[in-house]
Parts: sequence; C-alpha cells; structure tokens
Amino acid sequence: MGTNIVCKFGGSSVSNAGQIEKVRRIVCADDNRRFVVVSAPGKDGSEPEKITDHLFNVATHGHHFRSRGKSITERESFDRVLAKFRSLVAELGIRGDDILDDLESDLTSHISNKKRIDFFASRGEHYNAKVIARYFQSKGMDAKLVLPEDMGFLVSDRFGNAKVLPAAHSGIRESLKDGPVSIIPGYYGITLKGDIAVLSRGGSDLTGGEVAYAVDASCYENWTDTDGVYQVDPRIISGASVIPELTYKEIRLLSSGGFNVFHFDAMVSCKNKSIPINIRNTNNPTAPGTRIVSSRTPGETAVGIARMDGIAYVYIEKDMIGETIGFTKELLDIFKDFGINTHHYPSDKDDIAVIVDQHDLMDKADDLKETIVKRLSPDFLDIRYDLCLLSPVGIGMKNTPGVLARASAALYQENINIEIVDQGPSQLSFHFGIFQKHADAGLTALYRSLLK
Ligand code: ASP
Repeated sequence: MGTNIVCKFGGSSVSNAGQIEKVRRIVCADDNRRFVVVSAPGKDGSEPEKITDHLFNVATHGHHFRSRGKSITERESFDRVLAKFRSLVAELGIRGDDILDDLESDLTSHISNKKRIDFFASRGEHYNAKVIARYFQSKGMDAKLVLPEDMGFLVSDRFGNAKVLPAAHSGIRESLKDGPVSIIPGYYGITLKGDIAVLSRGGSDLTGGEVAYAVDASCYENWTDTDGVYQVDPRIISGASVIPELTYKEIRLLSSGGFNVFHFDAMVSCKNKSIPINIRNTNNPTAPGTRIVSSRTPGETAVGIARMDGIAYVYIEKDMIGETIGFTKELLDIFKDFGINTHHYPSDKDDIAVIVDQHDLMDKADDLKETIVKRLSPDFLDIRYDLCLLSPVGIGMKNTPGVLARASAALYQENINIEIVDQGPSQLSFHFGIFQKHADAGLTALYRSLLK
C-alpha cells in the first residue's frame, strides 16, 4: 500500500465556485491527495435540485420530475443545467466557452432511449470534472483531467445501475500511474461496447472506491457535508457526537437504519484491501471525521444506534412450525416471489414474524396474505404496521453482560413496550421494535442508557 490518497467530493462539495475553492484548498493541503473524484453539482442556495436530476429530466422529456409531483419542465431543466455551468465558469474565472458549447451539444444530441438516459445523466460529473480540472490548472496546480472513457473504467451494460467490471482495475492503475493530480468524474463508466453507462444513484462513491482499490490507496477520503457518522441522528438528539472510528462491519449494521452518508457498495472494494475510509466535511476540513477500518479496539459497548422507521411485520401462527422442515423457506419464498425484501424473522415454536419495510407492502398486502393462506394454511395471520426498529450497534457489546438489560430497562422507564426483540447472532447489534409514536422517546432513552 502506497501513501496516495483518493478523495471523492460529493455534490454539495462541488455545487458552486465557493465550494470548489474549498476543494482546491483541501487537495493542496496534502501532497498525497493525488486522485480527486468529483460528483455533479448538488443542490445549493440558488438551485434546489441536483444537476443530475435535471439531466434525468431532460433525458426523459420531463417525466423524471413529473413522476415525483414536481412541475419542472424539460426546457427548464435544460436551461438550469446550462445556467449552473455558465455561472461556475464565470465565478471561477476560467476560460470555458468550449466546455459550455460541448455541454449544449451533448444535451441536444439524439441518442436512442436506454442509452440516452445514461449518457445525459453522466454529463453532470463529466463537465464538472472538466471545469474543476481547468480551475485547478488556472491556479497553478499540476492537475490533469482523466475521464472514465480514457482510463478504461469498464462497467456492465446494465444501464442505470451498471456494475464495475474487474477488468477496469488494470486500466485505472495504468492511467493513473504517475503524473500530476488526476481529476476524475465519478458515477459513470464505459461498457465493453463503448457506451456510457451510469452506476446507481450516489455512484461517485463507487468510482472513488474502485479507484482506491486499483491504485492501492493508503486512504479513501469521502468528503461530504457532515462531520462524519453520528452516534444517533443529530436532528433528534442534539448532543450526539461524531463516531471517530468504526469497523466496516459496524458501519454496515448502522447503515440499515438510515445512516446515509456513504454508498455501501463502495466499501466492499476498500474492505477487500483493508483501505481505511475517512468520511470528512468539506465545510469543516479540520474535523477528523469518521474513519472506517478493518479492526479496532473498542473503548465502549455500543457505538451508535440505527433507526429504521416505517416498519411492518407479517405475523403467522401455526401449530408445529418449529417441527415443520422447510416452513420458513416456503414463507420466505413467497416474499421473494412478491419482490419484498425481508429484514428479520423472529420465531418461536408455533409462530413467526417477518419484518419488512411497510412501503414495500403497498398495494401488495392483500395478495401477499392470500398467497400465504393458500400455500401455508396458517392458523392465524395478521400484518402489523407503524413500528420503528431501534438497533444499538458496537463490537464492544459482544460478550458484555447487561447491555440488553440496560437498554430494555431504559424503555421500561419510559413506559414503552417492546413489540419485537431480535439479537444479531454476531452479538454486534440487537433490534427493538417499538410503535412508531414512541420512536423519538425510545431513541432518546437508549441513547442515554447506552451512549451518553
Ligand atoms: N450525481 C449522481 C447522483 O446525484 C452521483 C453522485 O453524486 O454520486 O446520484
């Protein structure tokens, strides 16, 4: 592993000239920051939508926003993308007529449907990287633009959700081997047939992870707009602090409860090479952020509490479930057939509950029930809605007596009933299901008893 750092800057970090100047300073502050992956401009004071969303809207002739109940037309999106890049060029004081002309020509190009959306969606990262590279150069930095198509950033042809192909790594390594600081657009790659295809939304994180893997980075810095990963949602508990260090496993467990600062697929490549990920704040660069590492020595029991709102469970009673080989498989097959993701399955001798996101049941609940009745003939079947799952997480909880006791006592003191309890077999987390109306009070009680 070398000393090179890959840094990825998210949409809010590159949304206007002021933010891009902050990025430049961060990159200049450490000579090891040699690979800079950038997103498309995100939301900012003058633009309430992400540029990528506007690009989707142009590509789909206004359907993208229409389907989300927003009345922004294709034409408005087109104008706003151009206006954003025009203002970046002007405010950064760079020469940019060629960039703006190319952008306009890309946005009026006629490409067939499937490929069209990906091509358009990729333009935010593509042109932002061009602008940023030129700005860095104008400030005297030894920087070059490296496009995914130039470095053979190969992806599958699953348009809209392309996956990075292992063959991409040698191309990346070769193109980035030496030379100046590389500015790389995130989020898109090139298929074997030479088409542009985008990764899933938020996919610049993935580009950064793959680049870190390919160049054997010493660290993957993920620059965003928060100081790191918080113990609990700081909007609910104002005293919550940033967690300095987490293992890959811990962040994964916390993520299931909506810790959305990072695209988790991006972690896989870093984890495979034990490359630490450092989540940092572009607006507060002196804060150390959260480091995600392979292993750590815990100084605490729980490190954070994940929260998942809007949970439902399908409850089934039937005599002898515990002795019926394959019952759970049959049941879960039904959820699979309905395309419903299942989270946990607490069970007993004659009953079982399957915990799901209640949005996933929308329009499907009646058919699902009917199918379960037909295929498994339960004695009793019910769906219970409006729960919240609170999940304390931490490697320090393993083999520590009394954590569950403290947590359940805290809920008892608030007179909150626990509807569901389930401990992960790794003992690194457990899950309390309580009614949604108690969610804030329950989270506060657990925070006080386990984290404060
Ligand atoms: N611009 C893309 C999106 O908004 C990718 C990214 O920002 O990571 O999803």
